[in-house]
Amino acid sequence: MDTIHLSIDGIDVEVKKGTTVLETANHLGIDIPTLCYAKGINHSSSCRVCLVEVGTRLIASCTLVAEDGMNIRTNTEKVRNARKTTVELLLSDHNQECPTCGRSGQCELQNISKRLNIREVRYTGEKSKTLVDFSSPAIVRDTSKCILCGRCAGVCDNVQTVHAIGFTGRGFNTTIAPAYGKPLAESLCINCGQCIMVCPVGALQERESIHEVWHAIADPNKFVVVQTAPAVRVALGEEFGLPMGTRVTGKMVAALRRMGFDKVFDTDFAADLTIMEEGTELLTRLNSGENLPLMTSCCPGWVKFVEHNFPDMLNLLSTCKSPHEMEGAMIKNYFAEKMGIDPSRIVVVSIMPCTAKKFEGQRDELSNHGLQDVDYVLTTRELAKMIKEAGIDFDRLQGETFDNPFGEGSGAGIIFGATGGVAEAALRTVFELVAGKELETIDYKAVRGMEGIKEAEIELPSGKLIRTAVVHGLGHARKLMQSIQSGAKSYDFIEVMACSGGCIMGGGQPFIDPQTQGEVNVKLERAKAIYAEDKALPIRKSHKNPDIIKIYEEYLEHPNSHKSHELLHTHYIRRKQF
Ligand code: SF4
Ligand code: SF4
Ligand code: SF4
Repeated sequence: MDTIHLSIDGIDVEVKKGTTVLETANHLGIDIPTLCYAKGINHSSSCRVCLVEVGTRLIASCTLVAEDGMNIRTNTEKVRNARKTTVELLLSDHNQECPTCGRSGQCELQNISKRLNIREVRYTGEKSKTLVDFSSPAIVRDTSKCILCGRCAGVCDNVQTVHAIGFTGRGFNTTIAPAYGKPLAESLCINCGQCIMVCPVGALQERESIHEVWHAIADPNKFVVVQTAPAVRVALGEEFGLPMGTRVTGKMVAALRRMGFDKVFDTDFAADLTIMEEGTELLTRLNSGENLPLMTSCCPGWVKFVEHNFPDMLNLLSTCKSPHEMEGAMIKNYFAEKMGIDPSRIVVVSIMPCTAKKFEGQRDELSNHGLQDVDYVLTTRELAKMIKEAGIDFDRLQGETFDNPFGEGSGAGIIFGATGGVAEAALRTVFELVAGKELETIDYKAVRGMEGIKEAEIELPSGKLIRTAVVHGLGHARKLMQSIQSGAKSYDFIEVMACSGGCIMGGGQPFIDPQTQGEVNVKLERAKAIYAEDKALPIRKSHKNPDIIKIYEEYLEHPNSHKSHELLHTHYIRRKQF
């Protein structure tokens, strides 16, 4: 028999063998609180909040496998008191600075305290030592808020296979930290921010640049330009209560203008530029047979992962800068020249779904003539905070369009936001450039979807096959790299996104509360919105974007030209493997 019968709160239920009591209860609509459980990421039962009564015993339901004939109680006085005591004990070693915490209002500890009707913390005494780690340009770690749930280490180990952080110390001195208690900046961390997304409290947060950006906007000597990545427009609305998957491109542009930015540009434009440069690079490598497979380089989390873990394969990464860095370089050179603005007065702000882009923004390699291509990176969440701070009623905004010359992007640029998007965008262009004719169908469905590793063979008119792999989540990327190293697999073109699902699920995107996570397929809803935005655009191929054609005619000459290399390409460095 593959199923068993049990009773939860007097409700008889039949479930598959191996199902946990927590899953069974959820299936029945009984919401058992938990602060550490995260499906597929962390099953450690460390928080002890999900206690249920089995006979006279209290047991954590997240790791309790349902057995035939079990009689479970989830709402007895004993259970409620035990959960309350557990949460009070967690609060007793927590800094409780809720009003000034960046996570306030979206904190699972706050929500559970409220739900359990906790009105005081009866336990006082010594608190663990506080360490606030500001070493990383992307992520701040504050141990005084950490409840040692282990989710962050779970995602870093099990999903990303980066192993940057884990439990160290014993007993009261237990903490989550990089190996040997080193600062995050001196670890293998690739800044993906997936640990932030699973952290139930504010112990891990992005390093905010809100204050610096407001300051730049207020400075009359600065010309402040903002650009927004494709994945932001399909998630920002969630911060204002709009349904998952709502596209808010026009409202977002209007809000940015009201906030005081001098120009509002679209990173989608530079995504098209990336395709022109990277597509040409792919064709050159295919012709020469050298440095194959070409690996995409638009994800800075993935780039740092290669730098640490596969330094002998750095030559395979595309030399193209990521789209927002390309756009930054074009703003501080082409645009500055055209407008007669001293580039040192220009401040470029990128709104990204990503925390790794904060790290990328300050890389030495991503600068020209002593100026960083991008000055500040704000996450989608930071943008939402600024819109709220400015008192803008987002819902009532009328849609506006981006400014020119970097305001027009194609559908190909938009789909960069979802896994498979960069590969599809490149293939749309590479095929037509080689064939010299229009593609009949431009939706490469083989590279779409949420499978961890997708493979496709695209036949060029010459009969040559482009063997393509699309990967998201670094655990899958590691497997793929190892199969290439061992010779088990061979490809011509590989797209990798560090975050599972691609940038739509980046570490800077809006938090999703546990209930919504259980009810909605977030990845799918955001991906659907990305492809709908692509479909709605009149131009869906990068090489057909008239502004891209113009910029090559006026300034860059041709893809991979000397000028392009100077502004739009970069190099990578070998990093310590620790
Ligand atoms: S940012 Fe990513 S790599 Fe760094 S600790 Fe968090 S999950 Fe690990
Ligand atoms: S940092 Fe956050 S996710 Fe990590 S153990 Fe602490 S509370 Fe849990
Ligand atoms: S997949 Fe996107 S959001 Fe995630 S690290 Fe890479 S660029 Fe950033």
